[in-house]
Amino acid sequence: GVPELPPRTLAPRRTTRQLTVGTVGVGSESPVSVQSMTTTLTADINATLQQIAELTASGCDIVRVACPSQDDADALPDIARKSQIPVIADIHFQPRYVFAAIEAGCAAVRVNPGNIRKFDDQVKEIAHAARDRSTPIRIGVNAGSLDPRLLARHGSATPEALVESALWEASLFAEHDFHDIKISVKHHDPVVMVRAYELLAESCDYPLHLGVTEAGPAFQGTIKSAVAFGALLRQGIGDTVRVSLSAPPVEEVKVATQILQSFNLRPRKLEIVSCPSCGRAQVDVYKLAEQVTAGLEGMEIPLRVAVMGCVVNGPGEAREADLGVASGNGKGQIFVKGEVIKTVPESKIVETLIEEAMKIAEETAHK
Ligand code: SF4
Repeated sequence: GVPELPPRTLAPRRTTRQLTVGTVGVGSESPVSVQSMTTTLTADINATLQQIAELTASGCDIVRVACPSQDDADALPDIARKSQIPVIADIHFQPRYVFAAIEAGCAAVRVNPGNIRKFDDQVKEIAHAARDRSTPIRIGVNAGSLDPRLLARHGSATPEALVESALWEASLFAEHDFHDIKISVKHHDPVVMVRAYELLAESCDYPLHLGVTEAGPAFQGTIKSAVAFGALLRQGIGDTVRVSLSAPPVEEVKVATQILQSFNLRPRKLEIVSCPSCGRAQVDVYKLAEQVTAGLEGMEIPLRVAVMGCVVNGPGEAREADLGVASGNGKGQIFVKGEVIKTVPESKIVETLIEEAMKIAEETAHK
């Protein structure tokens, strides 16, 4: 017989220090948050705020903006004040922009120890400024910009090298009794990235920001991020995530949200259970699933909708869902909460499902 396996659940979240990034808690006491980064010129305040508004609407919890020039630094006070979600300034080469970002009221600052060469000398001042304004710092190590000293010693950007760089930088802050730190050790290869975060998780209790850096265009980047985040979240590792795609940032938020929803780390909203179709299908399942997804996008209630191509698995899945259709013979049997409520012609399936979804949403709102 089949051996009985213990029920599989995610490991409990790794216990971390707790940070507050603006209004968002980051650490084991808070839900895993979603981040993204604007692609506008930060100095273009209106364009940046517009993109932040789009990210906010798509469910982004925290946004990061690049700060490569004085004009960008000058824009930070306005952006930090007007953004609906906490803004993190991303600083690479100039320690003076770190001070500017803290002064501007940014919710946190990301520094890259590999790129800020003179950074070590200024840690004391940065720690003081950050403590005065309760501004957490992310130490963001990237394989592509690893400290040359570590690169020379380790030969390449190994997991150990990434972790050593991050912990070294964190220790400099700790010397000044500053611990409001979160850490990332990003690599484009999920195998290296996962190992780096596992090592890091064992070596410190700072909250961790997960990311597969330069993950690639949407399709590849989505898969790399999902695989890597899945491997870590399964172990309880990861407190905030950013999916990096060569695609508009709103797509990053959608992917990150879907990854977290898949693990029940954030409430599921719309979930389409659609079959892959096969030789038995009596309806164009792809088209139907796409139309139903498009018609129901943005539903704010948890709703599982089954879209099935025939009567083999159709009624079973449709019955398990909140709402569903099992197609056959040019018709669709519409299920609501397990009951067949009607049978409609194929051309009416999408609109009927949307209608029924709206009814469920209204009922949920009145409960
Ligand atoms: Fe094939 Fe029907 Fe299963 Fe869809 S539900 S994959 S059409 S058997």
